[in-house]
Amino acid sequence: MLVVMDLSASQKEVDSVINKIENNNCKSHIIYGNQKIAIGVTGQTQKLSEDDFLTMDAVIDVMRVSKKYKLVSREMKDEDTVIDVKGNLIGSDELLIIAGPCSVESRQQVFDIAGELKEMGIKFFRAGAYKPRTSPYAFQGLKEKGLEYLADVKKELGMIIVTEAKDSNNLEQLAEVSDIIQIGARNMQNFSLLEEVGRLKNPILLKRGLAASIEDLLMSAEYILSEGNYNVILCERGIRTFETMTRNTLDLNAIPVVKQQSHLPIIVDPSHGIGIWDKVPPMAMAGIACGADGIVVEVHNKPDQALSDGAQSLTPKHFKELLQKIQELAPVVNKKVTLECAV
Ligand code: PEP
Ligand code: MN
Repeated sequence: MLVVMDLSASQKEVDSVINKIENNNCKSHIIYGNQKIAIGVTGQTQKLSEDDFLTMDAVIDVMRVSKKYKLVSREMKDEDTVIDVKGNLIGSDELLIIAGPCSVESRQQVFDIAGELKEMGIKFFRAGAYKPRTSPYAFQGLKEKGLEYLADVKKELGMIIVTEAKDSNNLEQLAEVSDIIQIGARNMQNFSLLEEVGRLKNPILLKRGLAASIEDLLMSAEYILSEGNYNVILCERGIRTFETMTRNTLDLNAIPVVKQQSHLPIIVDPSHGIGIWDKVPPMAMAGIACGADGIVVEVHNKPDQALSDGAQSLTPKHFKELLQKIQELAPVVNKKVTLECAV
Protein backbone atom coordinates (compact mmCIF):
# COMPACT_ATOMS: atom_id res chain seq x y z
CA MET A 1 0.00 0.00 0.00
CA LEU A 2 1.14 3.52 -0.73
CA VAL A 3 0.01 6.64 1.10
CA VAL A 4 0.76 9.81 -0.86
CA MET A 5 1.05 13.04 1.09
CA ASP A 6 1.41 16.65 0.07
CA LEU A 7 5.03 17.85 0.05
CA SER A 8 3.98 20.63 2.43
CA ALA A 9 2.67 18.15 5.03
CA SER A 10 3.86 19.01 8.54
CA GLN A 11 5.96 16.58 10.59
CA LYS A 12 2.94 16.14 12.85
CA GLU A 13 0.74 15.12 9.91
CA VAL A 14 3.38 12.69 8.63
CA ASP A 15 3.81 11.26 12.15
CA SER A 16 0.06 10.62 12.48
CA VAL A 17 0.11 8.57 9.27
CA ILE A 18 3.14 6.63 10.47
CA ASN A 19 1.52 5.98 13.86
CA LYS A 20 -1.60 4.63 12.20
CA ILE A 21 0.53 2.29 10.07
CA GLU A 22 2.63 1.09 12.98
CA ASN A 23 -0.34 0.71 15.37
CA ASN A 24 -1.66 -1.80 12.84
CA ASN A 25 1.62 -3.77 13.06
CA CYS A 26 2.71 -2.70 9.60
CA LYS A 27 5.96 -1.03 8.63
CA SER A 28 6.29 2.45 7.11
CA HIS A 29 8.88 3.60 4.59
CA ILE A 30 9.05 7.31 3.89
CA ILE A 31 10.27 8.37 0.48
CA TYR A 32 10.63 12.12 -0.02
CA GLY A 33 10.24 13.07 -3.68
CA ASN A 34 10.41 16.46 -5.40
CA GLN A 35 6.62 16.66 -5.80
CA LYS A 36 5.20 14.61 -2.93
CA ILE A 37 5.91 12.47 0.09
CA ALA A 38 5.25 8.77 -0.45
CA ILE A 39 4.85 6.47 2.52
CA GLY A 40 5.15 2.83 1.62
CA VAL A 41 3.31 0.40 3.87
CA THR A 42 4.53 -3.19 4.10
CA GLY A 43 3.35 -6.15 6.18
CA GLN A 44 -0.22 -7.40 6.59
CA THR A 45 -1.77 -4.44 4.79
CA GLN A 46 -5.07 -6.27 4.14
CA LYS A 47 -6.22 -5.09 7.57
CA LEU A 48 -5.90 -1.48 6.49
CA SER A 49 -8.42 0.28 4.32
CA GLU A 50 -7.81 3.20 1.97
CA ASP A 51 -10.43 5.22 3.84
CA ASP A 52 -8.43 4.97 7.07
CA PHE A 53 -5.89 7.33 5.50
CA LEU A 54 -7.90 9.36 3.01
CA THR A 55 -9.59 11.22 5.85
CA MET A 56 -6.26 12.27 7.36
CA ASP A 57 -4.77 15.74 6.90
CA ALA A 58 -2.35 16.24 3.98
CA VAL A 59 -3.08 12.79 2.52
CA ILE A 60 -3.71 13.17 -1.22
CA ASP A 61 -4.08 9.58 -2.34
CA VAL A 62 -3.90 5.98 -1.17
CA MET A 63 -3.27 3.06 -3.51
CA ARG A 64 -2.55 -0.62 -3.47
CA VAL A 65 0.73 -1.48 -5.22
CA SER A 66 -0.03 -4.30 -7.61
CA LYS A 67 3.54 -5.50 -8.19
CA LYS A 68 5.09 -8.25 -6.03
CA TYR A 69 8.02 -5.95 -5.45
CA LYS A 70 6.74 -2.76 -3.93
CA LEU A 71 9.35 -0.44 -2.44
CA VAL A 72 11.64 -0.86 -5.44
CA SER A 73 8.87 -0.24 -7.96
CA ARG A 74 8.14 2.90 -9.93
CA GLU A 75 4.59 2.68 -8.60
CA MET A 76 6.03 3.54 -5.20
CA LYS A 77 8.41 6.21 -6.46
CA ASP A 78 8.48 7.49 -10.00
CA GLU A 79 11.63 9.61 -9.70
CA ASP A 80 15.02 7.92 -10.12
CA THR A 81 16.83 7.17 -6.87
CA VAL A 82 20.11 9.03 -6.64
CA ILE A 83 22.59 7.75 -4.07
CA ASP A 84 25.16 10.18 -2.73
CA VAL A 85 28.46 8.46 -1.96
CA LYS A 86 30.98 11.06 -0.81
CA GLY A 87 29.60 13.64 -3.22
CA ASN A 88 29.31 11.22 -6.16
CA LEU A 89 25.71 11.00 -7.32
CA ILE A 90 24.99 7.43 -8.36
CA GLY A 91 21.92 7.16 -10.57
CA SER A 92 22.22 10.75 -11.80
CA ASP A 93 23.79 11.81 -15.10
CA GLU A 94 27.23 10.98 -13.64
CA LEU A 95 28.37 7.53 -14.72
CA LEU A 96 29.60 5.36 -11.87
CA ILE A 97 32.94 3.79 -12.80
CA ILE A 98 34.16 1.11 -10.38
CA ALA A 99 37.40 -0.71 -11.15
CA GLY A 100 39.89 -3.02 -9.51
CA PRO A 101 41.09 -6.61 -9.37
CA CYS A 102 38.77 -9.52 -8.67
CA SER A 103 40.63 -10.32 -5.42
CA VAL A 104 42.92 -8.62 -2.98
CA GLU A 105 46.11 -10.69 -3.36
CA SER A 106 48.70 -8.68 -1.45
CA ARG A 107 49.24 -5.18 -0.10
CA GLN A 108 51.61 -4.42 -2.97
CA GLN A 109 49.11 -5.68 -5.57
CA VAL A 110 46.21 -3.50 -4.39
CA PHE A 111 48.42 -0.44 -3.99
CA ASP A 112 49.95 -0.89 -7.46
CA ILE A 113 46.56 -1.26 -9.17
CA ALA A 114 44.74 1.35 -7.08
CA GLY A 115 47.63 3.77 -7.67
CA GLU A 116 47.34 3.42 -11.44
CA LEU A 117 43.56 3.78 -11.34
CA LYS A 118 43.77 6.84 -9.13
CA GLU A 119 46.15 8.43 -11.59
CA MET A 120 43.47 7.99 -14.27
CA GLY A 121 40.99 9.77 -12.01
CA ILE A 122 39.04 6.69 -10.88
CA LYS A 123 37.47 7.18 -7.46
CA PHE A 124 35.84 3.80 -6.76
CA PHE A 125 38.21 0.89 -6.09
CA ARG A 126 36.81 -2.63 -5.94
CA ALA A 127 38.55 -5.83 -4.83
CA GLY A 128 37.31 -8.90 -2.99
CA ALA A 129 38.74 -9.83 0.40
CA TYR A 130 36.24 -12.66 0.91
CA LYS A 131 35.77 -14.63 -2.30
CA PRO A 132 32.88 -17.01 -2.92
CA ARG A 133 34.43 -19.61 -5.26
CA THR A 134 32.83 -22.52 -7.06
CA SER A 135 35.68 -24.82 -5.98
CA PRO A 136 36.61 -25.11 -2.29
CA TYR A 137 40.24 -25.51 -3.43
CA ALA A 138 40.34 -22.21 -5.34
CA PHE A 139 41.77 -19.04 -3.71
CA GLN A 140 39.25 -17.93 -1.10
CA GLY A 141 40.61 -14.41 -0.56
CA LEU A 142 42.89 -12.93 2.09
CA LYS A 143 39.85 -12.30 4.32
CA GLU A 144 40.63 -10.02 7.33
CA LYS A 145 44.10 -9.26 6.00
CA GLY A 146 42.57 -8.28 2.65
CA LEU A 147 40.14 -5.97 4.40
CA GLU A 148 43.05 -4.38 6.22
CA TYR A 149 44.82 -3.65 2.92
CA LEU A 150 41.63 -2.13 1.53
CA ALA A 151 41.37 0.06 4.62
CA ASP A 152 44.93 1.21 3.89
CA VAL A 153 44.05 2.02 0.26
CA LYS A 154 41.10 4.03 1.50
CA LYS A 155 43.19 5.91 4.04
CA GLU A 156 46.35 6.45 2.04
CA LEU A 157 44.94 6.97 -1.47
CA GLY A 158 41.55 8.37 -0.45
CA MET A 159 39.68 5.96 -2.71
CA ILE A 160 36.08 4.86 -2.20
CA ILE A 161 36.03 1.14 -1.42
CA VAL A 162 33.66 -1.50 -2.76
CA THR A 163 34.07 -5.05 -1.46
CA GLU A 164 31.93 -8.14 -1.14
CA ALA A 165 30.25 -9.44 2.01
CA LYS A 166 30.26 -13.20 1.53
CA ASP A 167 28.35 -13.89 4.73
CA SER A 168 27.55 -12.15 7.97
CA ASN A 169 30.93 -12.95 9.59
CA ASN A 170 32.84 -9.73 10.12
CA LEU A 171 30.01 -7.74 8.55
CA GLU A 172 30.45 -4.88 11.00
CA GLN A 173 34.17 -4.64 10.30
CA LEU A 174 33.54 -4.90 6.55
CA ALA A 175 30.90 -2.16 6.75
CA GLU A 176 33.46 0.17 8.29
CA VAL A 177 35.91 -0.27 5.41
CA SER A 178 33.52 -0.73 2.50
CA ASP A 179 31.75 2.44 1.38
CA ILE A 180 29.53 0.29 -0.84
CA ILE A 181 28.97 -3.35 0.11
CA GLN A 182 28.77 -5.84 -2.75
CA ILE A 183 26.41 -8.81 -2.53
CA GLY A 184 27.61 -11.31 -5.10
CA ALA A 185 25.62 -13.28 -7.63
CA ARG A 186 25.78 -16.45 -5.54
CA ASN A 187 24.30 -14.65 -2.55
CA MET A 188 21.56 -12.79 -4.38
CA GLN A 189 18.98 -15.01 -2.73
CA ASN A 190 20.67 -15.38 0.65
CA PHE A 191 17.67 -13.76 2.25
CA SER A 192 19.05 -13.53 5.77
CA LEU A 193 22.18 -11.78 4.46
CA LEU A 194 19.97 -9.41 2.44
CA GLU A 195 18.02 -8.59 5.62
CA GLU A 196 21.24 -8.00 7.52
CA VAL A 197 22.65 -5.57 4.97
CA GLY A 198 19.19 -4.01 4.85
CA ARG A 199 19.78 -2.92 8.44
CA LEU A 200 23.07 -1.20 7.57
CA LYS A 201 23.53 2.35 6.34
CA ASN A 202 26.05 1.48 3.58
CA PRO A 203 24.78 1.50 0.00
CA ILE A 204 24.54 -2.04 -1.37
CA LEU A 205 25.70 -3.22 -4.81
CA LEU A 206 23.38 -6.17 -5.49
CA LYS A 207 24.51 -8.45 -8.31
CA ARG A 208 22.04 -10.50 -10.30
CA GLY A 209 22.17 -14.23 -9.60
CA LEU A 210 23.54 -16.67 -12.18
CA ALA A 211 20.09 -18.01 -13.00
CA ALA A 212 17.90 -15.29 -11.58
CA SER A 213 15.14 -13.56 -13.50
CA ILE A 214 14.84 -9.78 -13.50
CA GLU A 215 11.88 -10.17 -11.15
CA ASP A 216 14.01 -12.31 -8.79
CA LEU A 217 16.61 -9.53 -8.74
CA LEU A 218 13.99 -6.92 -7.91
CA MET A 219 12.50 -9.14 -5.19
CA SER A 220 15.96 -9.50 -3.63
CA ALA A 221 16.40 -5.73 -3.67
CA GLU A 222 12.98 -5.52 -2.00
CA TYR A 223 14.36 -7.55 0.94
CA ILE A 224 17.03 -4.90 1.49
CA LEU A 225 14.67 -1.94 1.16
CA SER A 226 12.07 -3.58 3.37
CA GLU A 227 14.59 -3.48 6.23
CA GLY A 228 15.08 0.26 5.78
CA ASN A 229 18.14 0.52 3.52
CA TYR A 230 16.92 2.30 0.40
CA ASN A 231 20.38 2.74 -1.12
CA VAL A 232 20.61 -0.23 -3.45
CA ILE A 233 22.49 -0.27 -6.75
CA LEU A 234 21.52 -3.19 -8.97
CA CYS A 235 24.09 -4.91 -11.16
CA GLU A 236 23.59 -6.94 -14.33
CA ARG A 237 26.57 -9.34 -14.44
CA GLY A 238 25.46 -11.93 -16.97
CA ILE A 239 23.32 -15.01 -16.66
CA ARG A 240 23.82 -18.68 -17.53
CA THR A 241 22.54 -19.63 -20.96
CA PHE A 242 23.26 -22.48 -23.40
CA GLU A 243 26.13 -20.44 -24.87
CA THR A 244 29.58 -21.91 -24.21
CA MET A 245 31.84 -19.50 -26.09
CA THR A 246 31.45 -16.88 -23.38
CA ARG A 247 31.47 -17.27 -19.58
CA ASN A 248 27.97 -15.84 -19.18
CA THR A 249 25.50 -13.94 -21.34
CA LEU A 250 25.35 -10.28 -20.39
CA ASP A 251 21.62 -9.63 -20.39
CA LEU A 252 21.48 -6.09 -21.69
CA ASN A 253 17.70 -6.44 -21.91
CA ALA A 254 17.67 -6.13 -18.13
CA ILE A 255 18.81 -2.49 -18.24
CA PRO A 256 15.81 -0.86 -19.95
CA VAL A 257 13.42 -3.31 -18.28
CA VAL A 258 14.72 -2.51 -14.78
CA LYS A 259 14.73 1.20 -15.61
CA GLN A 260 11.04 0.97 -16.45
CA GLN A 261 10.09 -1.15 -13.44
CA SER A 262 12.26 0.37 -10.75
CA HIS A 263 13.61 3.70 -9.57
CA LEU A 264 16.88 2.09 -8.41
CA PRO A 265 20.14 2.66 -10.31
CA ILE A 266 21.51 -0.26 -12.31
CA ILE A 267 25.08 -0.79 -13.50
CA VAL A 268 26.67 -3.39 -15.73
CA ASP A 269 29.56 -5.79 -15.00
CA PRO A 270 30.91 -6.67 -18.46
CA SER A 271 33.87 -8.60 -16.97
CA HIS A 272 31.78 -11.42 -15.48
CA GLY A 273 29.18 -10.85 -18.18
CA ILE A 274 31.40 -12.10 -20.99
CA GLY A 275 34.49 -13.40 -19.19
CA ILE A 276 37.00 -12.63 -21.97
CA TRP A 277 39.14 -9.53 -21.42
CA ASP A 278 39.28 -8.21 -24.99
CA LYS A 279 35.49 -8.48 -25.32
CA VAL A 280 34.94 -6.50 -22.10
CA PRO A 281 35.27 -2.99 -23.63
CA PRO A 282 32.53 -3.40 -26.29
CA MET A 283 30.16 -4.85 -23.68
CA ALA A 284 30.93 -2.03 -21.25
CA MET A 285 30.11 0.45 -24.01
CA ALA A 286 26.94 -1.47 -24.90
CA GLY A 287 25.80 -1.35 -21.27
CA ILE A 288 26.24 2.40 -21.12
CA ALA A 289 24.61 2.84 -24.54
CA CYS A 290 21.46 1.11 -23.35
CA GLY A 291 21.10 3.23 -20.26
CA ALA A 292 23.15 1.71 -17.44
CA ASP A 293 24.15 4.11 -14.66
CA GLY A 294 27.71 2.86 -14.71
CA ILE A 295 30.05 -0.09 -14.93
CA VAL A 296 32.16 -2.26 -12.65
CA VAL A 297 35.24 -3.61 -14.43
CA GLU A 298 38.00 -5.98 -13.33
CA VAL A 299 41.47 -4.50 -13.78
CA HIS A 300 44.71 -6.31 -12.92
CA ASN A 301 48.30 -5.23 -13.54
CA LYS A 302 49.41 -8.86 -14.08
CA PRO A 303 46.33 -10.68 -15.39
CA ASP A 304 48.33 -13.84 -16.21
CA GLN A 305 49.32 -14.15 -12.55
CA ALA A 306 45.94 -13.19 -11.04
CA LEU A 307 44.63 -15.54 -8.35
CA SER A 308 41.11 -15.18 -9.72
CA ASP A 309 39.49 -13.98 -12.94
CA GLY A 310 42.72 -13.04 -14.76
CA ALA A 311 41.23 -14.08 -18.11
CA GLN A 312 38.57 -11.38 -17.90
CA SER A 313 40.74 -8.64 -16.37
CA LEU A 314 41.86 -5.61 -18.33
CA THR A 315 45.36 -4.26 -17.81
CA PRO A 316 45.46 -0.63 -16.63
CA LYS A 317 46.56 0.34 -20.16
CA HIS A 318 43.52 -1.32 -21.77
CA PHE A 319 41.24 0.07 -19.09
CA LYS A 320 42.54 3.57 -19.80
CA GLU A 321 41.68 3.12 -23.48
CA LEU A 322 38.18 2.02 -22.49
CA LEU A 323 37.82 5.03 -20.23
CA GLN A 324 38.63 7.36 -23.11
CA LYS A 325 35.99 5.69 -25.28
CA ILE A 326 33.43 5.97 -22.47
CA GLN A 327 34.14 9.68 -22.20
CA GLU A 328 33.30 10.02 -25.90
CA LEU A 329 30.14 7.92 -25.58
CA ALA A 330 28.76 9.46 -22.38
CA PRO A 331 27.40 12.74 -23.81
CA VAL A 332 25.59 10.82 -26.55
CA VAL A 333 23.42 9.20 -23.84
CA ASN A 334 23.21 12.39 -21.74
CA LYS A 335 25.71 11.18 -19.18
CA LYS A 336 29.07 12.40 -18.02
CA VAL A 337 32.20 10.87 -16.51
CA THR A 338 33.54 12.76 -13.55
CA LEU A 339 37.14 11.87 -12.95
CA GLU A 340 39.25 13.11 -10.09
CA CYS A 341 41.81 14.56 -12.49
CA ALA A 342 42.22 14.82 -16.26
CA VAL A 343 43.09 11.55 -18.01
C1 PEP B 1 33.17 -10.67 -8.39
O1 PEP B 1 32.61 -9.55 -8.49
O2 PEP B 1 34.38 -10.86 -8.43
C2 PEP B 1 32.27 -11.83 -8.35
C3 PEP B 1 32.58 -12.95 -7.73
O3 PEP B 1 31.14 -11.57 -9.03
P1 PEP B 1 29.78 -12.40 -9.17
O4 PEP B 1 29.23 -12.49 -7.78
O5 PEP B 1 28.98 -11.55 -10.09
O6 PEP B 1 30.13 -13.74 -9.76
MN1 MN C 1 35.68 -11.72 -10.25
